[in-house]
Amino acid sequence: MTAIVWFRRDLRLHDHAALHAAMLTGDPIIPVYIVEDSLCRSAVVGDKRLHASFAAIAALGDTLAQLGGRLLIRHGNPQQVLCQLAQETGAEKLFFNRDYTPEARKRDELVSEVLSRLGVFVHTCKDLVLHEPGEIMTKQRTPYAVFTPYRRVWQTLAKDRPFSQPTRWNLFERLKELASEPVPTMEAFGRKRPIGPEWEMEQFGELAARKRLQQFLDGDIYTYKEQRDMPGVNATSRLSFALNAGTLSIRTVYHSVQEVLASARGEQVTSIEAFLTELIWREFYQQVLYFHPHTIDHAYLPQFETVAWENRKDLFTQWCHGETGYPIVDAAMKQLNETGWMHNRLRMITASFLTKDLLVDWRWGMAYFAQQLIDFDEAANIGGWQWSASTGTDAQPYFRIFHPVTQGEKFDPDGIFVKKYLPVLREVPLQYIHKPWDMPEHIQEQAGCKIGFDYPIPCVDHAQRRKLAMALFQEAKDRH
Ligand code: FAD
Repeated sequence: MTAIVWFRRDLRLHDHAALHAAMLTGDPIIPVYIVEDSLCRSAVVGDKRLHASFAAIAALGDTLAQLGGRLLIRHGNPQQVLCQLAQETGAEKLFFNRDYTPEARKRDELVSEVLSRLGVFVHTCKDLVLHEPGEIMTKQRTPYAVFTPYRRVWQTLAKDRPFSQPTRWNLFERLKELASEPVPTMEAFGRKRPIGPEWEMEQFGELAARKRLQQFLDGDIYTYKEQRDMPGVNATSRLSFALNAGTLSIRTVYHSVQEVLASARGEQVTSIEAFLTELIWREFYQQVLYFHPHTIDHAYLPQFETVAWENRKDLFTQWCHGETGYPIVDAAMKQLNETGWMHNRLRMITASFLTKDLLVDWRWGMAYFAQQLIDFDEAANIGGWQWSASTGTDAQPYFRIFHPVTQGEKFDPDGIFVKKYLPVLREVPLQYIHKPWDMPEHIQEQAGCKIGFDYPIPCVDHAQRRKLAMALFQEAKDRH
């Protein structure tokens, strides 16, 4: 018998549930990755995101090659590719890890149906999360819509251990003879490859992910609680790409953190627990999307589906380019546009600003993040956007609106982050760094930063827009 292992959001060999299950059968294995060309050509996926995922696929191919194996790369629609591969090789089993987004579920159901009809045994595994949607339910067997009680249950449940590394690789003997496309490249899809050392291919593979985890466990995890909100410090794990592309397994992360926790003391314990809480948010949002697939493009709270967003294109463009005149917002958008990642506090600030200050529909911002973020995850992105826009489960109340100046002063008190991404503000005195429009003219001259010329004047007045946002939310609520 032969088993196909279909790699998707799990681009690693270490602690891989489907691969482990396939290995246990003792059958020779065919590892395959399927490239969906339409997605690679679509503007929905930005260059940085595409490059990062191609780099992770290449790294997986390299690791398999070092073991004497090979990652087959095929293009097309998954059920057709897998049917053909099964027919070509006589494979009778297909293994893959479950994904919970509405689109992925539809695709996987179709694949399972078509392959089963061919007589192929389809085996799916839990891998993306520690607790799947449906494992944690209220006493009434309904999904949790509030995070804290969900977290309490999550914490009490036993967790799967990481799977052991196979000691012997039993690969399909004709693997090298099977047709395979080369690892996809940006050039092949007419895309621009981002340039710079941080974009080197090896930054995105399994080895880099394990190294990043180790670095975090050796240092920043102990101060995570106090520093996690400070974008200038850069003290979060930066594991989001690895967890979403699957170059690192959540089991490995969780159990490695538990080991560190076992010898931690005092404040360190609180910090490590704060980090674990973020991993729970990740699973909370997976189950929200699973049980409420309409939240992909509709408000979870129906009363806020009809907010009369202004949707001014000029303001949206200024936001996308980081040209709103509010330094913390602009620096954050520059970070996103340059690096494909944005600090969590800044995701909240920029999302709040777009929806509550610019009165632009959260779906526009969500789509922009989806295009730019290398760590894009549908469930977390929807969850984050709906939380910030006050339209989601467990959302921030609509009358609590982030102030872009005080948020900057609180979380970037020395202006380190703002100056890094907005060099034009480097010489601006600290007291004006988050409100440069207040600088008297002679100070603007000294700082080499003329407001309205070198740096934009604020595109809206926060106090006025705040009032308007509250009125629009109230109207939507009253109409409901
Ligand atoms: P850390 O602080 O080190 O957290 C560790 C891990 O926990 C993260 O890697 C991530 O897997 C998970 N996590 C942390 N915070 C959250 C959260 N609020 N929700 C869900 N999971 C979380 N995260 C994504 O992975 N993909 C997205 O597309 C995404 N879009 C977002 C959009 C908005 C508007 C907001 C407010 C948040 C979004 N997040 C998203 C959540 C969060 O901002 C990122 O996970 C985090 O910034 C990643 O950096 P890190 O790995 O250093 O996080």
